[in-house]
Amino acid sequence: MKLDVSIKFRDILKTITIDTPSKCPHCGRTMSPQHVGQSWSSENAGLDDQGRFSVIFRCTYEDCQKYFVIEYIHDDYPLSTMINYSYRPPIKVKLPENIEKVSPVFVEIYSQATVAESESLDQIAGVGYRKAAEFLIKDYAISKNTEDEEKIKSIMLGQVIADYLNDFPKIQALAKSVAWIGNDETHYVRRHDDKDIQDLKKFILSAAQFIAADYDADEALSFTASN
Ligand SMILES: [Zn+2]
Repeated sequence: MKLDVSIKFRDILKTITIDTPSKCPHCGRTMSPQHVGQSWSSENAGLDDQGRFSVIFRCTYEDCQKYFVIEYIHDDYPLSTMINYSYRPPIKVKLPENIEKVSPVFVEIYSQATVAESESLDQIAGVGYRKAAEFLIKDYAISKNTEDEEKIKSIMLGQVIADYLNDFPKIQALAKSVAWIGNDETHYVRRHDDKDIQDLKKFILSAAQFIAADYDADEALSFTASN
């Protein structure tokens, strides 16, 4: 729908024709929004000046009635350009330093699981964390046993933990906990009902701390050995 709004630019007060949005960003339904108000523009109105302004709308559905703001650029007579906002601030994922050097794929999957969790997609997030953990543990085992790379990739996670983490009992215990809770996130029947996705994350992050520290220590060892 077209709508005429009166915008006070830096140099002039001008009536601008805009396209109104056809969907409510809150409830997602199609509607002709109620026009509630508009902002000034801090730029000039000339077509080269790209004066920006915003218009406030309200959803007309009785069970929604939420307000929202659309930004426009006064650039192309007779119609201004509507700017589509997506309210998705980047999600910060805090992981131990250097862990991406042990397993870049772990960082990628873990980050995706965090996004899923932030969207309340708990089921997907749980499976994602479990998968991230598998990559972390297997990549770590491979870094310690490069000659067994193909074997480690192909065997079950539980077996990797049992066969390759014996020298690191604390990492082994954390990895076991991750595998047990993680399997609950993946399988139909839960076995460890008292543990949830928060426990799973806690154990994964602790394991990642140990693994990152071990990576740093190995680096220090090779540094001191070569000097
Ligand atoms: Zn709505």
